[in-house]
Amino acid sequence: MFDLTTRDIKYLSGVGPQKATVLNKELEIFSLHDLLYYFPYKYVDRSRIYYIHEIDGNMPYIQLKGTILGFETIGEGRARRLIAHFSDRTGVVDLVWFQGIKYITGKYKLHQEYIIFGKPTVFNGRINVAHPDIDDPSSLSLSTMGMQPYYNTTEKMKRSFLNSHALEKMMASVVQLLQQPLPETLPPHIIAEHHLMPLTEALKNIHFPVNPELLRKAQYRLKFEELFYVQLNILRYAKDRQQKYRGYVFETVGDVFNTFYERNLPFQLTGAQKRVLKEIRRDVGSGKQMNRLLQGDVGSGKTLVALMSMLIALDNGFQACMMAPTEILANQHFETIKELLFGMDIRVELLTGSIKGKKREAIHDGLLTKDIKILIGTHAVLEDTVNFSSLGLVVIDEQHRFGVAQRARLWSKNVQPPHILVMTATPIPRTLAMTLYGDLDVSVIDELPPGRKPISTIHQFDNRRESLYKFVSKEVEKGHQVYIVYPLIKESEKIDIKNLEEGYEHICAEFPGYKVCKVHGKMKAAEKDAQMQLFVAGEAQIMVATTVIEVGVNVPNASVMIIENAERFGLSQLHQLRGRVGRGAEQSYCVLVTSYKLAEDTRKRLEIMVRTNDGFEIAEADLKLRGPGDLEGTQQSGIAFDLKIADLARDSQLLQYVREIAQAVVDRDPTGQLPENEILWRQLKSLRKTHVNWAAIS
Ligand code: ADP
Ligand code: MG
Repeated sequence: MFDLTTRDIKYLSGVGPQKATVLNKELEIFSLHDLLYYFPYKYVDRSRIYYIHEIDGNMPYIQLKGTILGFETIGEGRARRLIAHFSDRTGVVDLVWFQGIKYITGKYKLHQEYIIFGKPTVFNGRINVAHPDIDDPSSLSLSTMGMQPYYNTTEKMKRSFLNSHALEKMMASVVQLLQQPLPETLPPHIIAEHHLMPLTEALKNIHFPVNPELLRKAQYRLKFEELFYVQLNILRYAKDRQQKYRGYVFETVGDVFNTFYERNLPFQLTGAQKRVLKEIRRDVGSGKQMNRLLQGDVGSGKTLVALMSMLIALDNGFQACMMAPTEILANQHFETIKELLFGMDIRVELLTGSIKGKKREAIHDGLLTKDIKILIGTHAVLEDTVNFSSLGLVVIDEQHRFGVAQRARLWSKNVQPPHILVMTATPIPRTLAMTLYGDLDVSVIDELPPGRKPISTIHQFDNRRESLYKFVSKEVEKGHQVYIVYPLIKESEKIDIKNLEEGYEHICAEFPGYKVCKVHGKMKAAEKDAQMQLFVAGEAQIMVATTVIEVGVNVPNASVMIIENAERFGLSQLHQLRGRVGRGAEQSYCVLVTSYKLAEDTRKRLEIMVRTNDGFEIAEADLKLRGPGDLEGTQQSGIAFDLKIADLARDSQLLQYVREIAQAVVDRDPTGQLPENEILWRQLKSLRKTHVNWAAIS
C-alpha cells in the first residue's frame, strides 16, 4: 500500500540530512506524511497588485509595487524602529521594522523598484506595513502565483534556508506523489452523508488551492475530520470509563447534612447553588462514578457547594478531601470550612507540604482510622504515603493547576475511584469545555449571592496618579482595604520583582500613615503567609503584590483593586484579579492603569473589562481575541491543543456538529464492531498511538 508515513523526509529532493534534522526538531516532521499535514496558515492571492490610494487599515495581506524614498530611525531603546517611506506615485505608506534595522538598511536600496507584501494597519493616521516581505519584481512571476500558501517557520528554520517558500517547494514535490490517492481516513458513509471532499483532493487543495471554493471545501473536510476524531476519542473512551467504573452510591442525605443546613448555614442558598447540589446528588446516587466540573464565577459560592457535597459523603460513611493549588488557598479553605462547621463534631485537618514530622504522622493515622472526616490540602495529599480508610469524594479547586495525570492518581486512593468534583473560577467557554473535559459533566453556578453590588471598573492612564491616590486614601479612610498588583512575566522575573519593590517603596512613601504589605512569588512560603496574614487580619490597609493573589483569596473588606500595567495581563487574568474585590456588601472598584499608547487588541480587552463583569462573556471574548492555544490553564491541563487546522474559537459550531455525529457512531457501535466503521476505529487507534495526550484523556 502507498504509505507516506514510512518515507523519511530527508530523501525528498532538496532536503538532505541537515535540513531534515532541523525539520525533525523544529516541527516534528519526520516523514512525507508529517510534511503533508503541515498546513499553511494563510493564503494570499499574489496575482494582484494594489495601489496605495486603494488601501486602508482593514485589508488582509496585500502587495504593492513601488520604491523606497528614504529611511528614518525613530524612538529610543525598546521603542526604536526603522521606517522606510514607500511610494507608488498614488500615495505613500510607512514600512516599519522593530528588529534587524541594520540588516534592512544594508539590504534594500533607495529608488529601486520592489514588490512589498504585508498587512496594512493605520497608526497615527498613516498607513503602516510592519515587517513586510520585499522582493525584486523580476524574481516573482505573479501571474502564475495565484493562491499562494504561507507556512509558519521558526528562526532556526530560516537560518537553514527553510523559509515558507522553501516549504512550499517541498510540498509541491510531495503533492506530485498524490497522483496515486492515499487511503481514506473516514468511512464512505460519513463522507457521503456530509458531502465531504475525498482526502487526497483535500490535501492537494489545502496546499495548492485551485480556487477559493475548493480551498473552502478542503478546509472543511480536514477540520471536520480533525474535530471528529478528537470527539470520537473522548466519547468512545469516556463511554468505556462509565461502563468500567462503578461509583460508590451515596444513598442518604442524613444528619450531618441536615444539621448543617438547618443550624449552621449562615444564609439562603442561591437558586443556582441549589440546582447544582441537586445535580451532584443525582450523580453520587446513581451508581456511576461522578466526574463533574463545577464552573462558577469568582464569588459565586462554590466553596459552600463543595462543602455540602462533602457532607453527603460523610452521611454515607465516607471521608472527603479537598485540594487547592496553593498553600495559601488550602489554608483559607481550611479556615472557612472549620468556621462553617462550628459546633459540629467533624474532624477537619489541613495537609500541606510544610506540615511535617509528628503532626503529619498524626494526620496519616487519623485518615486511616477514619477519625479525620475531611482533609483539606495541596498536592501533598496526592503522595503515596497519604491513605484513607474510605475516601468517597474529592473536590479539586481550580482545576487548571492540576493535570489529568494527577486526577488519575486520586482514583487509586480507594478500591473504586472516589467521586470527583472539579471547581473552576476561570469560566471555560462551552466549546472548549467539551473538548478539554469531554469526560466531565458540567454544572454552572450562574448567579451571585444577593446583595452584591457589581464591581465598577475604570480604565485610567498612568499620568493621572494623583487623583488615583486621592481615591485610595478616601477608601482607606472609610475603613476599606486596597490591592495594588504589578505584572509578572516569566522571562524577566528579576525585572518584575524590581518593579514590585519600586512600586512598594513608592506606595509606602505616598501613604506614610498606612501600613503597606507586599507579596510576590519568590518569597519564602512563611514570609508570604505572614504578609498575607497582615492583610487578611486588616492590619495592613494596602497590599502590593504580583499575581500570586490571583486565585481564591478572600478578604471581603477589600474594596479596591488597582492593576498596574494592565496592558500586560490577559483578559481572564484581569477578571480573576478583579474577583478579589466585590466580596462584601460595599461598592467595590477595579482600576486598570495603563500607559497612553495602546495596541488595538489591548484596547479591546480593556473595553470588555469595563463593560462587563460576566466571566463567561469575558472567557468567550478571550478565546476569540487570543485563540485557545493561549488560553490560560489549557497549557497546564495536560491536554495539549495540537489541532492542526481547526480553531476552537472559530469552528465551535462545527465542533458541536461533529460531536453529535461522533455520539451517534458510538451509540450505534459502542464496542467498535460494525464493518462500516472499520476505518474509523483503525484510524482512531493509530491517532491514539501518535498523539500522546489522547490516550490520557480517558
Ligand atoms: P467562589 O469560591 O465561588 O469564588 P466563595 O465560595 O468563596 O466563592 O464565596 C464567596 C463569598 O460568598 C463567601 O464569603 C461566601 O460565604 C459567600 N456566599 C456563598 N454563598 C452565599 C449565599 N448563598 N448567600 C450569601 N453569601 C454567600
Ligand atoms: Mg473559591
